[in-house]
Amino acid sequence: MKSLLLTLLLVASAVATSHGTSRSEPYLIHPLRLKSGSGSNGASLIKGINCASWRLGVEAHNIIDWKTVPQECEEYVGNYMLGLQYRQDSQAVTREAYLYAKSLNLSRDGKDIWVFDIDETSLSNLPYYAKHGFGAVPYNATSFNEWVEVGVAPALPESKKLYKKLLSLGINVVFLTGRPLSQKHITASNLNLAGYHTWTKLIVKDVSFTDKTAVEYKSAERRKLEKSGYRIVGNIGDQWSDILGTNTGHRTFKLPDPLYYIS
Ligand SMILES: [Mg+2]
Repeated sequence: MKSLLLTLLLVASAVATSHGTSRSEPYLIHPLRLKSGSGSNGASLIKGINCASWRLGVEAHNIIDWKTVPQECEEYVGNYMLGLQYRQDSQAVTREAYLYAKSLNLSRDGKDIWVFDIDETSLSNLPYYAKHGFGAVPYNATSFNEWVEVGVAPALPESKKLYKKLLSLGINVVFLTGRPLSQKHITASNLNLAGYHTWTKLIVKDVSFTDKTAVEYKSAERRKLEKSGYRIVGNIGDQWSDILGTNTGHRTFKLPDPLYYIS
């Protein structure tokens, strides 16, 4: 009986390891059960396009300026976001980012920085989107801001691991977000709660950028950083607008996000 139990324990831990999880870092960002149905294998169709192909088109920036996830793909996107693939896709990005960072000849003068976006990069709003159609319903600023103001968004586990490794390499972190000044305090508190305890700057969107695109706003802020002597050795975000434009950094990394598009 004892040996049977031991075997079962070993199998269970092997399964946990093969899923890239550890006891200290829960596998799920959001505790919802996996959805099941036709969307789970990407077989759902939108006007002749497979939902998995739609997601690839989004990630490759071939499909741009989209307003919502196609209705037909809500279940597919929900399954993707709550399932293993999203975590593994994120891990593939942050692993590459770390390998790159490790290869750098750093000056250790405090001027080497890595720019982190916040939403769907450092913090996950998946608990919100799981209740609001996984991006298939139009964005509602009022209800989204109510969620932000609670300040309990969890960290994206892979990004947090990267953040810690970069700090240990001597690279400082700058958070650059499209969140407004009115949300700066709750954002700092949420970052701390999620395990991000140190940063060189937390840059929020000034009202002077209200009519500007995210590409324009983020480019301008990165330009200011470089003008004040910082070297942007890396830049990571979930939106193409995080990594396009000017002063993008020596290397950019794009995390997956099939929930929404920001230009
Ligand atoms: Mg983002």
